Amino acid sequence: MNHPAPLETPTRILLGPGPSDVAPSVLRALAAPTIGHLDPAFLEVMDQVCAMLREVFGTENRLTIPMSGTGSAGMETCLVNLLEPGDRILVAINGVFGTRMAEVARRLGAQVTEAHVEWGRTFRAEDLRSAAEGEYAVVAAVHAETSTGALQDLAPLREVASEVGALLLVDCVTSLGGYRLALDEWGVDAAYSGTQKCLSCPPGLAPISFSSRACDRLAARKQPVQSWYLDLSMIAEYWFADGGGGRAYHHTAPINMLFGLHEALRLVLEEGLEERAARHARNAAALVAGLEAMGLELRVSPSERLAPLTAVAIPDGVDDGKVRRHLLERYGMEIGGGLGPMQGNTWRIGLMGAGSTRRNVTLCLAALREALEAQEWAVGGDPLAAAAAAYAP
Ligand SMILES: *Cc1c(COP(=O)(O)O)cnc(C)c1O
Repeated sequence: MNHPAPLETPTRILLGPGPSDVAPSVLRALAAPTIGHLDPAFLEVMDQVCAMLREVFGTENRLTIPMSGTGSAGMETCLVNLLEPGDRILVAINGVFGTRMAEVARRLGAQVTEAHVEWGRTFRAEDLRSAAEGEYAVVAAVHAETSTGALQDLAPLREVASEVGALLLVDCVTSLGGYRLALDEWGVDAAYSGTQKCLSCPPGLAPISFSSRACDRLAARKQPVQSWYLDLSMIAEYWFADGGGGRAYHHTAPINMLFGLHEALRLVLEEGLEERAARHARNAAALVAGLEAMGLELRVSPSERLAPLTAVAIPDGVDDGKVRRHLLERYGMEIGGGLGPMQGNTWRIGLMGAGSTRRNVTLCLAALREALEAQEWAVGGDPLAAAAAAYAP
């Protein structure tokens, strides 16, 4: 029998909706020798990861930890711990990930009220208020909707959550590490994220944070959390020795992923939260300038637009698949296609974490211009000159 040869994976430039390019020092950290999940040296890594996560989330919440699994496991962790069967939740839906939250909540036996605005738009207090009826246990929304490229202002959501007596749960998968977050100041009760977007770590961990109000809700549950694996009261016994008898085994922590996250968070803090957010904003502005110079249209209005992800309308007559194949085959560059109603008519260009660089902006604009010209689409002005002008002081 022929066994496979050792893997030889290509090197890509990841400019899609995630995963993003991983910094070399994060890859090195992942390759460190594996140690035990109760090794004293590992316990120190865990403590440092929690402390750094709190800083990056902008919170003093004690229960701030990386869950094992991807961003969706973080979503499920928050919902399964906060909701009991029959509880009411109001979900703000303006893309794929709000839709997913509602679906997860329904599977948990919660009563779900959906509030909708058009994909690519965000919620004002009134949009949410008009869908609400009575009291809710949780109001849930997506901060950075990666499926459409829209950034949600959280203040109006906090306002409505308070009116209906609810905890505020926020998806921060694409905003963590790309924006300066302030969970405590914003009154967010529970948040989750993922490692492969603006933290620039491979996929595999889902940072979450629970406020003391969210922890009180967890402690007051009448029924045990339906998921054994994601039960935060048990997992806290491992992370914080809350059982009283030292750190208790629950499941084997993904040791090397935590080494990688440790380095990724260290890089975020070394750069500075303010500086990192400014870098994401600067590179996105240059990308947008270049795209618009070519005559391309963007899906989201400037005031609601995300920096880590730019959604571009695919011009009539241009073949989505051909353009993306051109970028991948000729330049090893990945950009994202559209999801749901945006499939086939939208590109999603991510400039996340280590991938948010002037080099990538320039490469992407040049490669995209070439691919559009190959399809005989009439490119307007020079994208590289427009991007360079956006960088000029
Ligand atoms: C990527 C993403 C998720 C899901 O994360 P996975 O790591 O794919 O499970 C959830 N919400 C948002 C906003 C995302 O961008």
